[in-house]
Amino acid sequence: MAYLMLIFNKIADLQGYLSPFQSSHKTVGFVPTMGALHAGHLSLITESKNNTHITVCSIFVNPTQFNDPKDLERYPRTPEKDIELLKSANCDVVFMPSVEEMYPINAAKEHFDFGHLDKILEGQHRPGHFSGVAQVVKRFFQIVSPTKAFFGSKDYQQVMIVRALVQQMNAPIEIIACPILREADGLAMSSRNMLLNAEERVLAAQVPQIMQSAKQTVLKTGPQAAKLQVEALISKMPHCRYEYFEVCEANTLKPVSSLEPDTKYVGLIALFVGKIRLIDNLTFSL
Ligand code: AMP
Repeated sequence: MAYLMLIFNKIADLQGYLSPFQSSHKTVGFVPTMGALHAGHLSLITESKNNTHITVCSIFVNPTQFNDPKDLERYPRTPEKDIELLKSANCDVVFMPSVEEMYPINAAKEHFDFGHLDKILEGQHRPGHFSGVAQVVKRFFQIVSPTKAFFGSKDYQQVMIVRALVQQMNAPIEIIACPILREADGLAMSSRNMLLNAEERVLAAQVPQIMQSAKQTVLKTGPQAAKLQVEALISKMPHCRYEYFEVCEANTLKPVSSLEPDTKYVGLIALFVGKIRLIDNLTFSL
């Protein structure tokens, strides 16, 4: 028998469907996505299926988190394929709202304060990005009222922002960070990878290698040497533009200039390959 997956476009219909589950204390798992799904997204669905009674996946290309209108325009959209993939992952419910449904015209714009968390790394290079993320995630959390929400560690800083958001909302939602899924050559899976041409795809595969060798340099010589090394390597790659490489304390995301024992660190990178912006990260300790 084909798997029955329900698709909703309207908030009221989704809430009407979820309400009996919630009132009978069934756990609701939520996986927010922007579509153009790949195995990384599906791993979040699987995690949710394994840990909750009912799994809701949203597909919504959120305009408010794009600081570059061209990036929003070229963001891949593959709704039919996404639906087939979600069926194959036994997802229970898909929520695909319109922009008007998510953002009624007279809704007030909210201001968020995440301290240093939204001012460094992605926050510094994509002004307004995390306000847009917080706005849409908060709205989804209010609509879906999930018990647990599943996010990929590929967007490491985003997970920290979402944890801070849930604290600020005082919402009883457990945030679960899931591992990064990678292609066979190590490139972190991303919807944006399908926008790379053949030559750019080969260049992109160097990113995980650069990260591994940066980690060795951090451990041997320290974060500053690794930063210089990453910047030098990327500036030699054709069509590529370095944005940042930073070593941070993994639990606070505070940049560090030396390592201490018994502490977890994360190295985070962002670069352009052609017009496509890629991010990746790697956790380690001494
Ligand atoms: P996106 O559609 O890019 O907004 O991503 C939706 C969710 O999937 C986010 O929580 C991402 O961190 C997660 N995700 C994206 N790529 C990967 C990956 N390669 N491995 C695991 N999770 C991922």
